[in-house]
Amino acid sequence: MRLYNTRTRSVEELEPLDRQQVRMYVCGLTPSADAHLGHARSFLFFDVLRRFLIFRGMRVTFVQNVTDIDDRSIATAQAEGVSWREVVNRYFGSFKASMRRMHVLEPDVEPRATGYITPIVAMIEELIRRGFAYVAPDAVYYRVKAFPRYGALAHRNLEELMIGARIEPGEGKQDPLDFALWKFAKPGEPEWPAPWGAGRPGWHIECSAMSDALLGVPFDVHGGGLDLIFPHHENEIAQSEPLMEHPPMANFWVHGGLLEFDGRKMSKSLGNFEPLSALLDRHDAQAIRWLFLMTGYRKPMNFREDAIAGATVALGRMYDAYDALRETPPSDDDSRPAGSVKAYRERFVAALEDDMNTAGAVSVLFDLAGSARDLIAAGAASEAAAFLHEAMSVLGVSPNERTLPRRPPTVLSARSLDVAGKPFALSGPQDPELPGELVAQLRPLVEPAVSLNGCAPREAVERTILARAAAKARRDFASADDLRRALAAVGITLVDTKEGATWSLSH
Ligand SMILES: [Zn+2]
Repeated sequence: MRLYNTRTRSVEELEPLDRQQVRMYVCGLTPSADAHLGHARSFLFFDVLRRFLIFRGMRVTFVQNVTDIDDRSIATAQAEGVSWREVVNRYFGSFKASMRRMHVLEPDVEPRATGYITPIVAMIEELIRRGFAYVAPDAVYYRVKAFPRYGALAHRNLEELMIGARIEPGEGKQDPLDFALWKFAKPGEPEWPAPWGAGRPGWHIECSAMSDALLGVPFDVHGGGLDLIFPHHENEIAQSEPLMEHPPMANFWVHGGLLEFDGRKMSKSLGNFEPLSALLDRHDAQAIRWLFLMTGYRKPMNFREDAIAGATVALGRMYDAYDALRETPPSDDDSRPAGSVKAYRERFVAALEDDMNTAGAVSVLFDLAGSARDLIAAGAASEAAAFLHEAMSVLGVSPNERTLPRRPPTVLSARSLDVAGKPFALSGPQDPELPGELVAQLRPLVEPAVSLNGCAPREAVERTILARAAAKARRDFASADDLRRALAAVGITLVDTKEGATWSLSH
C-alpha cells in the first residue's frame, strides 16, 4: 500500500522492514487533562490504518505510549492536594473509556514513561558520552547544534527555528534550541534516581527510549498528530538517530490532520473546550467515526456538531443495507452473475491502499448499499452481506458492534400456493403500503402474459410472481426474466428461495 511519508514529503510504498510484520509506534496521550475530539481524530485514524494492515494479512505490533509524568499533572496534583498518580489515573481512565466507546482497538503495548526510567537514563548517559547532551544546574539538556540534521523532518533550518526560541529564567541551557532530557526534582516533586541527580524524564526522551525498548530501531511507522512534528518528533529523531548505525529511526513518519471547531482551535482559553466523554454522551460514537472517515486523514477538518446528524443517517443507511442483504434467504437461482461483489471489494481495497483514502472507501460502500436491491435480485445477497460486514469492520463500524438502534425487521406473511402441480411458498411484507398506482404501472409491462384485471396492488404482485414461477417451470426463461424485470421496474425486489419466492418493496 502507498502512504504519505512526512520524512520524504512523498507518497511511498509501505514495505515492512520485517516481511509480514509492521511495527508501529504512535504517540499517546498525556493524561494531565481531559482528552477532546481533536485527540480522538488522530487515534481513530491510526486505528483504521492498523485494522487495514491486519486485513491485508500483515502482523501489526502497535505501541502507544502514556506520558504519565509531566509538569502539568504535577501542577494539577499540587493544586488539588492529591498525588500525581491520582491525576494521571483519573484522566487516563476517562480517555480509555472513550476509546472503548469509539471501538478503538487496544494497543499491543501501552507503556507508561515511569515504567521505563532505566532505559531512559541509559539513553541519556549515552547521549552525554557522545557529546549530544550536557548537565546543567536545573536539567540535562540536549545540544541541538551537535546534530546537523536537526529540523529535517519539519523542513525548517536552524535560523527559522531560532525565531521564538528563548531561554526562560532559571533555565540552565546553553542555547535557546536545546531541550531538557532530564529535569531535576524541585522539593515536593516526584523523582527517580539518576547519575546526575534525582528527577524525571522530559517528554521527548520517553518516546525515543520506549520505541527502541519495545520495537527496536529502525521500525516501520511512527505516527502522531500534525502538531507533534515540531518539536516532539524532531527531538525524537535528534535523540535516537545519533545512536543508530543506520538511521532513520522510523521508515515512515505519518501525521494526521488537525481538527478545528467552528473554525477555531478547541481550547479552554477560547471557551469552546468540551471533554470527549461529554460529546460521546450526546452522540453515537460510531457516527462520529463515520464522519471522520468521510474526510481525508491529512486534511485539516472543521468540526461542526450538526454534521454528526448527517453521519448518523448515513451510517444508519449502511446498517439497513447490511440487514436487508443478510436477511435475504439464500437463493438457488443459478442465473447470478459471478463476481458482482468482487468489483466492490477491489475498489474498496484500492481506495485504502491509496494513502488511506477512507472517503473513497466509504463511497464504495455507499454504492454497494445503493445497489443492494440489484445484488439481492442477482442472488449475491449473502456474498454482499459478508463483504459489507468485513469492510465495515476494517473501518471500525462493524454491524455486530453497532450502537445505533436497530430497526425492527420486516414481518413476512407466507402463503402456500401451487405452481405447475408443485407447492410454492410465497412470502411478502405483512403490511405492505403498496402504492395504488402500482397496478397501473405494472399492467402495460406484463399484459397480456398476466391478466391484472381488477387486481388490488398486492394481488397484482403475487399474480406476476406466480406467472414467472410458471414460466420457469416450463423452462421459458426469457418470459420469466421479463416478468422479474417488470417487477423490478415498479420497485418490487424478488428473491427466489428453495421453496418458492420472497418479495419486498424497495423505498
Ligand atoms: Zn512521542
